[in-house]
Amino acid sequence: MQIGFVGLGTMGLPMARNLLRAGHAVRGFDTNPAARAAFAEAGGAPAESAAASARGAEAVVTMLPDDAIVRGVLAGEGGLLAAMAPGSVLVEMSTTGPATKQAMAQAAAAGGITLLDCPVGRTVDHAVAGTLAIMAAGDTAAIERMRPLFDAMGEHVFVCGPVGAASAMKLINNALAAAVNAATIEALVAGNKAGLSLETMFAVFRTTAAWSNALAANLPKKALKRDFKPGFMARLAHKDLGLAIGFAEEVGAEARFARAAHAVLAEALQDGYGAEDSAGSMLRAVERRSGVELPLMEKPPG
Ligand code: NAD
Repeated sequence: MQIGFVGLGTMGLPMARNLLRAGHAVRGFDTNPAARAAFAEAGGAPAESAAASARGAEAVVTMLPDDAIVRGVLAGEGGLLAAMAPGSVLVEMSTTGPATKQAMAQAAAAGGITLLDCPVGRTVDHAVAGTLAIMAAGDTAAIERMRPLFDAMGEHVFVCGPVGAASAMKLINNALAAAVNAATIEALVAGNKAGLSLETMFAVFRTTAAWSNALAANLPKKALKRDFKPGFMARLAHKDLGLAIGFAEEVGAEARFARAAHAVLAEALQDGYGAEDSAGSMLRAVERRSGVELPLMEKPPG
């Protein structure tokens, strides 16, 4: 397939590389010249603008930082939608609010373009390995047409409903994961202050309703090893939680645990951990306010 790709950053570059590996022709654009150079090195054809990446493309993938940039790149002056051919598909994979995806889908439809709402779960390692969890929403025939792209970039495709549904799914997923991480970190740090060892806490949690994937996998993998490299950057997690809270307000749903996790991430950003991994940044922020540091844990006890 001839594919356009806009946003060749942490996630976008390895995703575009996997499309190339699967045999697709990819023309890619990023405002950062270094990202375009890395893409060219991977065998891609760099384009001089977002609009130019859409030339002859049956599909264009966008993987951009936030709502304002997505709206600008798609519908701003010299934007992608004006350059795409009628009948083509825009696969919008950035994490944005559902309202942005819906507004852009409407703008796309006016030009005969189908927009799919396709945010991704998991991390940069999964983007590199082509094992992302893709949440897909929108026209089901277009989702089927895009299967070869999803198969090249991801391991799972979850069809969620109409445009906006996949972004809602992505936001509640990230809010839940961050809230569980924050609550787990709080418990471990409080236990440490009380003189409990990680061995004791893990042994008890393992047998009760406190056990979760945060304890089984996520925190031992990096944060408890005191490995703070991203992963998933704290400032992006903070952005996602802000979106999740905004979305909950829009639909009249509760967001008190999302707010609590958002507040911990805000403290982590204040402390200067914004470019570190999100779970580790929360650990450091909670430790700092509690005046303790958990001991290094090379692997989960038990
Ligand atoms: P990133 O900042 O590394 O990459 C974004 C890229 O977009 C950058 O290379 C930047 O130069 C480029 N860009 C910015 N404005 C542009 C414009 N106007 N035109 C063209 N290119 C432009 O971010 P990322 O980590 O790759 O994340 C991208 C999206 O994926 C975000 O919405 C993020 O929340 C989401 N996400 C990230 C992860 C993760 O683990 N990093 C996981 C899941 C989802």
